Amino acid sequence: PQAELQQEEIIYRSKLPDIYIPNHLPLHSYCFQNIANVASRPCLINGTTGKVYTYAEVELTARRIASGLNKLGIQQRQVIMLLLPNTPEFVLSFLGASFCGAIATAANPFFTRAEVSKHAKGSNARLIITQASYVDKVKEFAQDNGVMVMCIDSAPEGCLHFSELTQADDNDLPEVDIASEDVVALPYSSGTTGLPKGVMLTHKGLVTSVAQQVDGENPNLYFHSEDVILCILPMFHIYALNSIMLCGLRVGAAILIMQKFEIGLALELIEKYKVTIAPIVPPIMFTIAKSSETDKYDLSSVRMVKSGGAPLGKELEDAVRAKFPGAKLGQGYGMTEAGPVLAMCLGFAKEPFEIKSGACGTVVRNAEMKIVDADTGSSLPRNQAGEICIRGDQIMKGYLNDPEATARTIDKDGWLHTGDIGYIDDDDELFIVDRLKELIKYKGFQVAPAELETMLIAHPDIIDAAVVGMKDEAVGEVPVAFVVKSGKSEISEDEIKQYISKQVVYYKRISRVFFIEAIPKAPSGKILRKELRAKLATKKH
Ligand code: AMP
Repeated sequence: PQAELQQEEIIYRSKLPDIYIPNHLPLHSYCFQNIANVASRPCLINGTTGKVYTYAEVELTARRIASGLNKLGIQQRQVIMLLLPNTPEFVLSFLGASFCGAIATAANPFFTRAEVSKHAKGSNARLIITQASYVDKVKEFAQDNGVMVMCIDSAPEGCLHFSELTQADDNDLPEVDIASEDVVALPYSSGTTGLPKGVMLTHKGLVTSVAQQVDGENPNLYFHSEDVILCILPMFHIYALNSIMLCGLRVGAAILIMQKFEIGLALELIEKYKVTIAPIVPPIMFTIAKSSETDKYDLSSVRMVKSGGAPLGKELEDAVRAKFPGAKLGQGYGMTEAGPVLAMCLGFAKEPFEIKSGACGTVVRNAEMKIVDADTGSSLPRNQAGEICIRGDQIMKGYLNDPEATARTIDKDGWLHTGDIGYIDDDDELFIVDRLKELIKYKGFQVAPAELETMLIAHPDIIDAAVVGMKDEAVGEVPVAFVVKSGKSEISEDEIKQYISKQVVYYKRISRVFFIEAIPKAPSGKILRKELRAKLATKKH
């Protein structure tokens, strides 16, 4: 009788049919499955130097790196950490790790020494691949923990040089038996709550996710081998790693690597290399929309401008559309833990779908989505907003060494709870309307309030603190702090800001501090962030 009372769940699927996904293959085998067709074509283009690596070169170098890693003693399922800007070496190292059954984790090279150490320690990295200018950030940690450091550009004292990997003999790589459930990538994300955690993405998960984006019968959907894809987004984030790099490799496209976003250079490279696909984030859209330089360049090669990583306002969408009249502009929706892509704009395909302004796409193929009432847990019909949940082979295996956080995020039926609020309309288009989780996004970068709160509370003059996001036109959101200071303390807003700035990368810096009597909390001790956000709305900025 209990079962009879249970309502059937309302589940949404793609408008396109499911496809065959060869997710028994290791990630590198899947990416290079069709390499014979593209062996001599450009694979990676270094936007800084102009150097081109063909598919054959990339595949061979990655195998050599795998052999070199093996010689250095990196074993299957051990972690190597990449602390690099966007460079061909990043891609080659990632693929090398995959070939030898190791796991790659990547940290933002702008991280402070403390942030890098935390990441390296948490992930149990055995080797850090970086460049000479960042060695100071890792030296001490590496020495204290017996971790090897390798530089791609030179070999300062105590460091190995990248040639040690690239010059290894690929024939020396022993057979590795990689299981599809083995982890291959370990990006970091704070998810719906708490501190940043290692997100375990498996070979099977990433193959599934890439296939959901680019495989199948509809050749006009997404990417193909003639495409030139701009890689301006940081590769240490899963958006670029998966949706640019891995998808690009799978289809045999050329990937144009830019080290950092600089509008003039980006436009120049788009013209020079006839870029066809521009995956970007709303803050880059903002810069493009405001730039007068766009008129100076021929941007007509671009056929697809893809936005993701953060909400995109309609005005901004229209402004950028006007700058790329020949291109289709649509959104994707991702979350690191989801592999990351949950939904993509089907309007990129020629027929028969149209792009709906404000929508962030339709759920990917071979996956299920539901919209859940946050209070009752029941699944909701069309046009009703609730928490977005996703299920499929592409989602993470779990958080590294954190079964509790995993269980809070993936329920017993395999549904991953995103902490995002959205609804699905009559055309199967997903619209995101709010964020239930505490995550703050600055230019698409994650800022975990819990991380800043821990630092604030560690200050002797601070009794309690809470951090929330404040809307900002240019960057999306900035972190602001509500602070309860101890009775006699005269600590100022500036002192608190400086105290935090010394410890964190630039986008986690606190932009405002508001002193209050007490942090509003639920009886469980949970911070009532909604109340704080409401308080913010009443403050003058
Ligand atoms: P990350 O794990 O860093 O990729 O961050 C994932 C989060 O970014 C999601 O859970 C959303 O809150 C947000 N996000 C990603 N894509 C979009 C989008 N197209 N529109 C609105 N928010 C987005």
